[in-house]
Amino acid sequence: MAAAVEHEFRGPRRRLVELLHEQGIKDLAVLHAIDQTPRHLFVPTGVRHRAYEDSALPIGSGQTISQPSIHARYLELLKLTGNEKVLEIGTGSGYQTALLSQLASQVFSIERIPALLDKAREVIQQIGARNISFLLGDGTLGWRQYAPYDAILVGAGAPEVPSTYHEQLTEGGRILIPLGDREEQTLYMFTRRGDRLEQAEIAPVRFVPLVGKYSWEGL
Ligand code: SAH
Repeated sequence: MAAAVEHEFRGPRRRLVELLHEQGIKDLAVLHAIDQTPRHLFVPTGVRHRAYEDSALPIGSGQTISQPSIHARYLELLKLTGNEKVLEIGTGSGYQTALLSQLASQVFSIERIPALLDKAREVIQQIGARNISFLLGDGTLGWRQYAPYDAILVGAGAPEVPSTYHEQLTEGGRILIPLGDREEQTLYMFTRRGDRLEQAEIAPVRFVPLVGKYSWEGL
């Protein structure tokens, strides 16, 4: 992506990277990806001046782009080496999709709200990431056509892990998913060990609800 990096906001972006480093993010590939990704292009123009604060921001359609420190934590936990095939549920703004495209070899991303997906596609095209495929639809079904995935990242909260994810994961592959109620969740990381999912509790989080066949019903 180097040639297409936006030079605008370089200073604030550097400071965000330093802040994340101070907060304990050590994975240099993750910090580099954040340094190379113009987050301000992924947020609505009205909040663009806040793009490099460590805060969640509204992106329209009642959804939010997560806090950069959450993205950084998420990505660090996956320990990606660059060779992985990754499935992302909840494209939202497409910011995390752009980060993943620099850390994995192929990214498959599903979003259920057409307006968000259109916008995300447009920005991704603008910054020139090519290893991303998008799907409009219900991400609780996964994306069988390209399975199995080395990692499945869910950017919205669910009551439990949709069984489709276990089926579409490689042996040793990881699922990151917030589980809980509609307002508050705990972030879990699951690792596939045959028929079992080994579970690790990570941190309390607040995500928008995952809405779909194997999760919450729509409002
Ligand atoms: N990582 C994204 C998070 C966006 S919020 C970002 O930082 O921008 C979570 C997104 O999940 C929302 O855009 C919401 O519409 C989407 N979502 C919720 N349920 C979904 C489902 N079943 N399938 C696909 N996307 C879903």
